[in-house]
Amino acid sequence: LRVEVEMSFVSKLKDLIFQDVQNENETKKTAVSLRINAIIMGLYFIFLCVTFLAERETDMGIISGACLVLYAIAFRLTYLNHTKSALWFAEILSIAWIVTFVYQLGWDCGVQHFIFVLILMIFTPGFISNSVKLIHSVFLFVTRMGLFMYARNFPAVNQLPSDVTVVLQVMNTFFIFLALVAGLLLFTYDSVQMEEKLMKYNKKLHKLASEDPLTGLMNRRSILTKVQKYQAENREDIGPCVAIGDLDHFKRINDTYGHEAGDEVLKAAADFFTSFMNGKGYVGRWGGEEFLFVFPNCNLDEAKIYLLDLLKELRKIEIPYNDQVIRFTMTVGAEECGGEDIEKTINAADNKLYMGKESGRDKVVC
Ligand code: GH3
Ligand code: MG
Ligand code: MG
Repeated sequence: LRVEVEMSFVSKLKDLIFQDVQNENETKKTAVSLRINAIIMGLYFIFLCVTFLAERETDMGIISGACLVLYAIAFRLTYLNHTKSALWFAEILSIAWIVTFVYQLGWDCGVQHFIFVLILMIFTPGFISNSVKLIHSVFLFVTRMGLFMYARNFPAVNQLPSDVTVVLQVMNTFFIFLALVAGLLLFTYDSVQMEEKLMKYNKKLHKLASEDPLTGLMNRRSILTKVQKYQAENREDIGPCVAIGDLDHFKRINDTYGHEAGDEVLKAAADFFTSFMNGKGYVGRWGGEEFLFVFPNCNLDEAKIYLLDLLKELRKIEIPYNDQVIRFTMTVGAEECGGEDIEKTINAADNKLYMGKESGRDKVVC
């Protein structure tokens, strides 16, 4: 039973440390390294607190206890919002307690060496620019030199007995090594995880930039790019044919059933178009209730047959909405691209669509 409890504690701690950050565009490595650092420093201050209290150094015991609490806060901060603020908090905290300790106990206490851990902490995150890292290093160098000069010229507030100083030195050495090794291990660990995450994020960005969020169809820019690419790669004599379809009296649907119902109609239409175009070509959302259909390798006669079939099937669609049934139609203008600029062909198709609207809607104009 004890082994089981220990196992679950270890796995819980592991989960806690390796939990991902909230922001998708941040790597979790920095947060994890801050958590590990906070745990190491927490342990360090527990040891220090106990040692000082045992030696009746109450002031230093209280300061160490306060540091323990502050590192618990630093740990907690890595789960909130930005890793950046957690990092700056940890850094300011480190400098503050190092300065306090040197002021209280003098140079011999040896805590100034923790500044080297800070350099590692600042150099590992990718989101800090090199110039900021360098400025920081200079700042840390100056801080350490300043502390040295101060300690040379002013006596420590608290003269520790030499055996306590020895204990302190040993602990410092141990925890500095621990912090450095843990940080380096983490950051030299293969970066596959981070790359995977970035790749996923890039995919998502690409999807957001090319997909219409409501219908899931290609958006205007993405379908246009696709046709242009197709044209550049294929120089056949026929096609592509393009058709612009505009839902009829769509404003009426919105006005009668509400905007949400309108959205449902757009989604249902998009789903139908996608399955209809399968194997024939592709479709994208051109604008509000307008769709662009592309039939590669088709002449206008063939495209017209497809489009007539499409309108016939569209008339059969019934969308249930709040005990009612919504039906709708579409008018289409189609044009074949004779090797000219595709945008011109789309304009021509658009003009034909307009003619179709003028002459009664629910038809294909070629
Ligand atoms: P016509 O037959 O002449 O095309 O008439 P129409 O009412 O369809 O044409 P109009 O261009 O006047 O209206 C299009 C409407 O489509 C207006 C706009 O509010 C609506 N619309 C555009 N995008 C969306 C959308 O994403 N969701 C919903 N619900 N409505 C939209
Ligand atoms: Mg319209
Ligand atoms: Mg319309």
